[in-house]
Parts: sequence; structure tokens; C-alpha cells
Amino acid sequence: MHKDLWDKCLRFIKGEIPEQSFKTWFSPIIPLKLENGALTIQVPSQFFYEWLEENYVHLLKQAIQRELGENGRLEYSVVIDSGNRANKPYTVNLAANGQGSKYGQNHDGGKQEIRSPFALPTVDLHNQFCNLNESYVFENYIEGDCNRLARSAGYAVAQKPGVTSFNPLMIYGGVGLGKTHLVQAIGNEIRNKAKEKFVLYVASEKFTNQFIEALKNNNVQDFTNFYLNVDVLIIDDVQFLRDKEKTQEIFFHIFNHLHQNGKQIIMTSDCAPRDLRGLQERLVSRFKWGLTADLQSPDFETRMAIIKKKLQSDGVNIPDDVLEYLAYSIDTNVRELEGVLISLIANASLNKREIDLELAKHTLRNIVRDIDGEVGIDYIQKTVSDFFKVSQDDLKAKTRKKEIVIARQVAMFFSKDYTNHSLKSIGYHFGGRDHSTVIHAVQSVNDMIDTDSKFRYSIDELKKKLKMRVAY
Ligand code: ADP
Ligand code: MG
Repeated sequence: MHKDLWDKCLRFIKGEIPEQSFKTWFSPIIPLKLENGALTIQVPSQFFYEWLEENYVHLLKQAIQRELGENGRLEYSVVIDSGNRANKPYTVNLAANGQGSKYGQNHDGGKQEIRSPFALPTVDLHNQFCNLNESYVFENYIEGDCNRLARSAGYAVAQKPGVTSFNPLMIYGGVGLGKTHLVQAIGNEIRNKAKEKFVLYVASEKFTNQFIEALKNNNVQDFTNFYLNVDVLIIDDVQFLRDKEKTQEIFFHIFNHLHQNGKQIIMTSDCAPRDLRGLQERLVSRFKWGLTADLQSPDFETRMAIIKKKLQSDGVNIPDDVLEYLAYSIDTNVRELEGVLISLIANASLNKREIDLELAKHTLRNIVRDIDGEVGIDYIQKTVSDFFKVSQDDLKAKTRKKEIVIARQVAMFFSKDYTNHSLKSIGYHFGGRDHSTVIHAVQSVNDMIDTDSKFRYSIDELKKKLKMRVAY
């Protein structure tokens, strides 16, 4: 009954305001009950309640009165603490539009008089918005040489947001190295310590989309105000703002305002600030005001520790030799490592067998190897281009840049050694080159192996990487 009523109200409200505002402010509302001509709706926070009262009270009133008549009333139930497994949510009930509040009511039954909406106890401002994933915490973020600075700076910021000189805190590093986990851990830590702080995590892509929507709907003011209310702004993957002039401008504005008011800003990026092309210089220079810390690929010991932690939390045991095998084999990033673990655990439980070395090898093979069961040209190209830090497309392109030519020749060399493709076919896979180019590449590589010890070392490293796939 109250649900149908609220649905009807929503339909009306939806027609009256921009879609983004509707989504932001009305979708999270939960209708609770209809009693004595009063509809009670649950809103996620005090901040949310105040916002509704300030901006949408007339609209709400109108909607309610359309459905319930002149005497229809609205009451709010404000979630103060969303609770956890042990504690039920704590909420207070408030009447709409300054009609005076009623009771503070704990779901356990305890009641507490509250005089005005503004005399509320410290309020959790933002459950609905913080966008934090509670499983990303410091406790399960393994420390290693690869992340020591970033982690300890993050921890310091979490203890004193906005107060340390690490403002903004900029964390950068390649994919799957733990940027999102770390900044979310900072957010969660702050939330646990200081409930009254409005911590907001947002991916740059989402920020951009919200802004574009706001522009379209003519409510940039709403959008900006929302962000200006934040105490801790965590903005992930800022490289996404590349070439988005308007979004950068509004972000610049928000950034300045927050920074001047001692609010903490935390950012991540896939590269160092100086390499952030397509971002306005004034923005990049501000990114460098605080502390910039990078994340590197984890070393062997750290990988071991990460795997152990992960398995422990899943309640899975695996023998040491399997552990070592995995830590040894997957040295790219943590996300990949986790992916393999998940497959391995799934494989074991689906096939009802213990996790042993054989199963681990089998799983890994299925993940990293080409479908036809041999190392393919594509795989070689990928491995070689990663190794030389050039793009796979460059290997097939016309460019004659020295480092690309070398990478291309090395990839051809391995394609000849490790696959059954003819010279002609190999040439074909490298942007339609002819077989004599492949012969020349193989010769050049052999020459360099003989004359250049550093190069020889690179070839050995690559062999190891590729052989791992061939051998198993
Ligand atoms: P990024 O944002 O840099 O691409 P993520 O933060 O999404 O990387 O990390 C990828 C996965 O690896 C996540 O599941 C994360 O929990 C895990 N991870 C990364 N670094 C660590 C670490 N040091 N300890 C434990 N888990 C980690
Ligand atoms: Mg990320």
C-alpha cells in the first residue's frame, strides 16, 4: 500500500525534475509505512534529509497531497548509522517541512526525544554516497617494497585527513597494482574513525558523466554544491579527465575550494603527474602540491604474502609448492594473480579435487595459453611488447623507430622459434611484411645476442616468460 502510494508520487516527481536529480535524490528513498494519513520515507542520511527539505519540500508536498488529499503528511526516517551484522540500523524520525520532529527511534525499541532536526546527535552524513567497498581495508592490503611509501602516506592521511602535508595525496601506478584498494582503504579507515566526516569515493569517469548530465539538465549548481560538501574526496583514475576541458575546469574549482577549506583530496592515476598529458597545467601543478607516491609490481615475497592472505580469507589451504609456483609464475599484477586464484579454487571445487601442482599448472595453462594449445604469435607479440614497453600495434605498424624495430625483430625471432608458422605467415602477422624481413629479423637478433650482453640478458628473460607457457 505505502509502496504503491510512493510509486505514484515518484511518477509525478519524475516528470517535474531533471533525471539526474531524480536519480540522486529520489531513487535512494525507501517508503516505510502509511499510518494515519502520514507516509514515512526512509532517507539515507541527515545531509540527505536537509537537502530534500531545502530543495524539494514543495514538490514532495505536492506529490503527497495529490495522492492523500489536503491532509496528507510526510515523515522522514533518517538513517543515522546503517548498522552492521551485530547492530541494527539506528534511525531517527522527523516530520517534513519544519513541522517539528517526533521521536528518535532505535529499531530495538528505545525512544529518544529530539527537539529539532538540527539538534541531532553526530550524524553519519553519507552512507548512500560514499561509494566505499568495505572489503578494501588496510588489514588486507599487504605491505611490500612495491607499495611502502604509498601505503604509509595513505595510513597517515587516514589518521588525520586534511591536516598532514599530504594534501592532495596522489597515488599512481599501472593496472591491477592496488590503487583503488589503497584509496578505498583510506576512505574506510576515516569512516570508521570519524563518522561525521563525509567521505566520498568517485571514479573520474563517473564524475565526468555526472557533470555532463548536470550540464544537460541545467543543474550544475546542484552538482557542484554536492561536491563542495565533501570532507574527503577520493577521485580514482584522474587520467580519465584527459582532454575533457569542461570537466577539468569544474574539478579545478572543486579542488581549490576543498583544499582551501582544509578538506582532504586523494587521487589516483595510471601514470606520474608529469606524464598526465591532456590535463591542464594548472591542475597538474596542484596535484604536485601534496605527496605523490607510486605503486610498483609486487616482488616475489609480496606476491606470496598476497596469495596467502587471499586464501586465508577464503578459508582455502594449498600446499607450499603450489603457492610458490603461482607466485613465481604470475608476476604482472595483483589482479591477475587473484584471477588465477579464483579460477583455481573454482576448478578444484567443481572437479571435487584437491588443489595440487598439477591442477595449478592446468589452470594457469588454460588462462594464459592460446586456444590451440601452443604459444601463438599473438601471445608472443603481447609478451614482447610488454617487455619492451611498446604497444602491440606498433609491432605491426610501419614505424622505423629504433626501439620498436628491435621489439618487432625480437617478436619475429620468437615466433619462428616457438610456433609452427611459416616465415610467410609470420610476416603476415606483423603487418603484412614479407618473408625476407623475417629472415633478416632473425639474423639481426642472433647478431645482437652475440655482441650485446645486455640484450642477451633480455632475450633470456623473455625466454623464461615464454617457456613457462611452452613447458607446461
Ligand atoms: P588498480 O586500481 O591499481 O587497478 P586494484 O586496487 O583494483 O588495482 O587491485 C586489484 C586487485 O588486487 C584488488 O582485488 C586488490 O584487492 C588486490 N590488491 C592489490 N594490491 C594488493 C595488496 N598490496 N595486498 C592485497 N591485495 C592487493
Ligand atoms: Mg582502479
